[in-house]
Amino acid sequence: MTRNLRNIGIIAHVDSGKTTLTERILFNTGRIHRVGDVHDGNTETDHHALEKKHGITISAAATFCDWNGTGISIIDTPGHVDFTIEVERSLRVLDGAVVVFSGVAGVEPQSETVWRQADRFKVPRICFINKMDQTGADFERVVRMIAERLGARPLVLQLPLGVEGGFTGLIDLVDMRALVWNSGDAPVVCAIPDAYQSAARTAREHLIELLAEDDEAVLADWLGEGPAVFADQLRSAIRRGCLTGRFTPVLCGSAYRNIGVQPLLDAICAYAPAPEDRPAVEGVDPRDDTPQFRPPSADAPFAALVSKVQVSRYGTLSTVRVYSGRIVPGDVVGLSDTGRTERIGRILRPHAATETDVAEAVAGDVVALVGLKSARAGGTLSDPAHPIVLDGFAIPDPVIEATLEPKTRADQDRLRSALDALARSDPSLRVSTDAGTGRTLVAGMGELHLQICVETLKEDFGVEAFIGAPQVAYRAVATRPALVDHTLRKQNGGIGQFARIKLAIGPRSDGKAGLAFSNATVGGVIPRDYVASVRRGLQTAMADGGPGGHPVLGLEATLLDGAFHAKDSSGPAFEIAAREAFRIAFAETDPILLEPLMRVTVTTPDDYLGAIIGDLQRRRGQVLETIAGPRTHELVAELPLSEMFSYVGTLRSLSQGRASFMMAFDRYETLPKALWGRAV
Ligand code: GDP
Repeated sequence: MTRNLRNIGIIAHVDSGKTTLTERILFNTGRIHRVGDVHDGNTETDHHALEKKHGITISAAATFCDWNGTGISIIDTPGHVDFTIEVERSLRVLDGAVVVFSGVAGVEPQSETVWRQADRFKVPRICFINKMDQTGADFERVVRMIAERLGARPLVLQLPLGVEGGFTGLIDLVDMRALVWNSGDAPVVCAIPDAYQSAARTAREHLIELLAEDDEAVLADWLGEGPAVFADQLRSAIRRGCLTGRFTPVLCGSAYRNIGVQPLLDAICAYAPAPEDRPAVEGVDPRDDTPQFRPPSADAPFAALVSKVQVSRYGTLSTVRVYSGRIVPGDVVGLSDTGRTERIGRILRPHAATETDVAEAVAGDVVALVGLKSARAGGTLSDPAHPIVLDGFAIPDPVIEATLEPKTRADQDRLRSALDALARSDPSLRVSTDAGTGRTLVAGMGELHLQICVETLKEDFGVEAFIGAPQVAYRAVATRPALVDHTLRKQNGGIGQFARIKLAIGPRSDGKAGLAFSNATVGGVIPRDYVASVRRGLQTAMADGGPGGHPVLGLEATLLDGAFHAKDSSGPAFEIAAREAFRIAFAETDPILLEPLMRVTVTTPDDYLGAIIGDLQRRRGQVLETIAGPRTHELVAELPLSEMFSYVGTLRSLSQGRASFMMAFDRYETLPKALWGRAV
């Protein structure tokens, strides 16, 4: 059985109305019976207090509703780019997205960032231009911005009826009718008012011309068939254009006044992809690394990606996207993270503030599983007889780290277990112990990320901790290849230790992070288990093997030759030999240090632009672009993270508190030798 499903995310710049729109969607689909007002902090999706009451937390990783027989799962997307990984993981599991813009502010920098990420994941999108009732709203300007700033081909399907305070409804260009919201929640359908007739005809012709450019069927129908038949043909063509990403349908409305929300739901059902419209997912068989594919079918072997893990003191809840096959409670599944199997407990379908038990989950479903002990966000669940590891989302390397100390000594153990739980739910958070001081270190994506970590420890786990001054997380890489032939030989009484390995190491040719290891030995000069130990030894050595003890970002290593001894060789001996060999060889690769380079977007009233640019340049920043808005300027710059600490305060004083900024990791850049003193 295939269900009619849409897994969509609502993507929006902070303040453009995502919360309000989600509320209205839940209200119009009968999920909630009262519309909370965002101003009161009383919305259904904002139910942190409720989470506490229920014990198990479902902070809206997905919310399910139904519109005229189509199930719509709204996947949670974050509103802040500091959490790039959250954006990635939601994009990875959704099939389509609604991108919300404010009709007044238009395309804002954060929307650009997320739009590019969605391009990368080939996620079909529908744009909703919200706040059409607000003073200054300008539909055409936002459509232009969508084309110019995002490089999209907007397909305008509606025109606003009335402006600002007089905004009362829409003209539907597909069915050529007007929808007017008077007092009730449902629109009244009527003829297009005379004053709008000509604009509507022109806009519809433009829509058809655009579609006809790539779609012969539309062209033929346009020239031949009558208008009633044509509306359905048009819908099919819009759907084809949306699914391939050639076009982006554009709708408008006012979430606050509940105008345009039902037509948006219709558009999601009509144009956004169903799970079956998406290509087969790719992965590898963990036993031998052979490529594997899973079609979006309930009859294929089970495979699912864990998109979110919420661990609280009450239990674990894993939100998963099922790509193929089916599961029922009691089934045993394999977990890619540990290689173990675990039994599925309850399967829940999350709604706004409650959840319902379901009897099975099939390909396309997004559900929450209770009780998996070792699931990690980004991990794969699969049929143990047909194991697969899906391409998860890229887990970014942390760029900043700080020490954490429990408020009282007695809390040390609780701190550590709470941190481990947090790291399972947020893989961009890393926890380690400083080898020198024995103190706990946490590493993450930014100052805000670490602050939130400390708050979560207190609120969700009841552990209070002090955070030290954040430090930049530097990384090391080799700049040229080196060769080493190393023998570990120890004999102290009884059994000795013997391992000989010949290794070539160097920078990764693909520039990626992590260890790319290959075994070029022949004829079993080293048994397979010991080869695995060599790989493990290199991995541990990389964790602190760079100058100043910084981790090595990426490394290519080839095991060329070696020798073992029947009696004196062991896995640990080969692991030690690999670590020693790494140390000798890495020093000869002329290693350099890298520092995180951030992409910073500042929005400021024009008056302060000069002062802000001057300050950024003094911080080794490079301004890439300045974009003039109606009253403000946006500037995009790249800066080393080390120059950005406490920038909030500086920006505040430079702009009398009127400018704001956003920052996200962009890439690593070489740390100039003159500044090595900061890092080693
Ligand atoms: P989010 O940050 O994107 O989730 O945005 P919210 O939904 O919290 O909305 C931000 C503010 O804009 C709130 O004060 C809303 O009441 C208001 N708002 C949202 N949608 C509309 C709209 O369509 N028209 C008007 N006038 N205000 C809106």
